[in-house]
Amino acid sequence: MRLDTDIKYLKGVGEKRSAMLLRLGVSDVDALLRLYPRVYEDWSKISSIEDAPIGEVCCIKATVGTPVKTSMIRRGLTLYKTTVTDGKSVMNITIFNSKYAAEKLRMGEEYLFFGRVTGNLYKKEMNSPEIEFAENSDRIRPIYPQTQGLNSRAIEKLIRTALKSCENEIIDPIPLSLRESFCLMDLKSAIENIHFPKNPDYLVEARRRLIFEELLILQLGLLQMRGRGERKTGVVLEKDYSEEYFSLLPFKPTNAQRRAVCEAMNDMMSAGQMNRLLQGDVGSGKTAVAAALVYSAAKNGFQSALMSPTEVLAAQHYRTFISLFENCGIRTELLTGSDTAAQKRTKKQALKNGEIDLLVGTHAIIQSDVEFASLGLVITDEQHRFGVEQRSALGLKGENPHVYVMSATPIPRTLALIIYGELDISILDELPPGRQKIETYAVTSELRERAYTYVKKHLDAGRQGYIICPLVEESESELAAATEYAEKLANGFFKRYTVGLMHGRMKSNDKKRVMQDFSDGKTQLLVSTTVIEVGVDVPNAVIMVIENSERFGLSQLHQLRGRIGRGQYKSTCILITDAQNETAQKRMKIMETTTDGFKIADEDLKLRGPGEFFGSRQHGLPHLRIADMLKDKETLAETQRAARQISQRDPKLSLPENAGLRKEVEKLFERVGEEGMN
Ligand code: ADP
Ligand code: MG
Repeated sequence: MRLDTDIKYLKGVGEKRSAMLLRLGVSDVDALLRLYPRVYEDWSKISSIEDAPIGEVCCIKATVGTPVKTSMIRRGLTLYKTTVTDGKSVMNITIFNSKYAAEKLRMGEEYLFFGRVTGNLYKKEMNSPEIEFAENSDRIRPIYPQTQGLNSRAIEKLIRTALKSCENEIIDPIPLSLRESFCLMDLKSAIENIHFPKNPDYLVEARRRLIFEELLILQLGLLQMRGRGERKTGVVLEKDYSEEYFSLLPFKPTNAQRRAVCEAMNDMMSAGQMNRLLQGDVGSGKTAVAAALVYSAAKNGFQSALMSPTEVLAAQHYRTFISLFENCGIRTELLTGSDTAAQKRTKKQALKNGEIDLLVGTHAIIQSDVEFASLGLVITDEQHRFGVEQRSALGLKGENPHVYVMSATPIPRTLALIIYGELDISILDELPPGRQKIETYAVTSELRERAYTYVKKHLDAGRQGYIICPLVEESESELAAATEYAEKLANGFFKRYTVGLMHGRMKSNDKKRVMQDFSDGKTQLLVSTTVIEVGVDVPNAVIMVIENSERFGLSQLHQLRGRIGRGQYKSTCILITDAQNETAQKRMKIMETTTDGFKIADEDLKLRGPGEFFGSRQHGLPHLRIADMLKDKETLAETQRAARQISQRDPKLSLPENAGLRKEVEKLFERVGEEGMN
């Protein structure tokens, strides 16, 4: 029987059961074989009645010592009782209602009884144990995810049937050479042993092999998806000018900044194209790292481009770079959608003539009519706002420019490995000295007025503040609510103050103006949705109130909070939430007690699980069947290496030996499509 045979044609399935199996995601025989057990019952460790601990699940081998007594307690409840012995001790067995199980038991015959031991030290008991003939010992039995009408045992049976009928159809997608170098069990044995392990060691190996396969396919899929399997030859920089640049800075770079610059310089001075992700918490000084790279590129005669997700950020970056490159002779220019046609023309011409060293802008700078004289380095900031396609489009400009991606969303390294499978990673895990800690308090909405009063106090002292409204989806109705909310604040509680409003639906020029007013100190209070989340830098803003904070992810809260605490003043963040459940409470506690973005990301991940953590939709990650991105870190790293090796030799997976892998990658994409992700 072929593996892609519709499951309803498998012996013992039929129409009704195939509908049930579909609920478990099983549509064909292959999917059934890939329905891995959740847990196992270990029938291989047999304990004597005497040694079986009360309260634990045990497997006991014993002989039926007395005839089975039947007693009808009431309608619908029949008890079957017997005693069994292992030669040394006696145990009571009670079976509820199952005539079938009771009739199986014969006086003087030996059986295995699997269940929780109850009773007391004088007389142990087992209620409704699972019963097997004694010769079926030495087995680890699978327990499957169940669905209504189909229990684990029924599924087990179907899987046995499937295994028997498809034995010769199981073809290993992983080439032999790879299996050998990573000591992997072949697929057929792995499938047999994941369902019916010969012994615990086989189970371990089967799991490892299947996890490896799943993660390998995922990594290969990501490499394909991003079209970066091949390490292209890139621009080679001759000389490292970072020390020269550092000496021009008004501050001393942190060790983490030095390390990150060094890692990137190594990439850019070698023959391969750089594809690197810089992860650093809010305020860790990513911009200075980027500037060092731009500096070295320029001194080596190459241009750089820096792309920001919004015009506001592009403009801010432009100003930052201008000041970072003061007296350096690095010519920086800003190109945005709001330039006039004439301005654009002039700037593009200058770029083409090589009169600009760094071009800052939004995605406008990847439009096809923007030509560089010698593009060597492309930096994207806050990449989580960019789609994968945009990222690859940038890479296509010029002669394989080096690609540097900066992200302020700390991601646990394990996940970064998957999501940015094609990127090397540098981490800024150290903040520049002298940062103010941000005090954070979670309060209920009853204390809202007090929070506002506290905000006022800061505004009166000449500082500025943010109030983040609970607009998560920028839908019309929520938008109306946000506007109303802001107006209420502006005309009510904060009447004496200047209040600005910003949300994602505003025209980019309006946003820019609101942001500019705030940054110039013309508005004291900015009521905003999460559009201010990324990168905005106003050191005089020291207080932030976040409404309905349970509606945000921890990492997002962390991002938002990072907008304050950027200057010399002590900063405070007030999280308003009425959510009482335990997880919500825990999450608020984490925000109150730590400001380390990586730690927050880890905790968030633990509390919410990887899928939700990222909103897998956004990140296009399929549901994993057996691998656990947190627990299987080592395998993850192994598969990443393996995937790169394979892709380097065979980027399109077109060699015959990789045909199986290619098929699995295609299947993965189908699944991602069906699950509606990406
Ligand atoms: P982010 O990583 O959030 O983009 P920035 O690059 O905006 O951080 O840096 C935050 C602030 O810290 C900036 O004002 C920058 O000038 C300053 N800064 C960066 N590196 C250092 C350093 N090594 N010592 C002191 N201040 C620094
Ligand atoms: Mg930044």
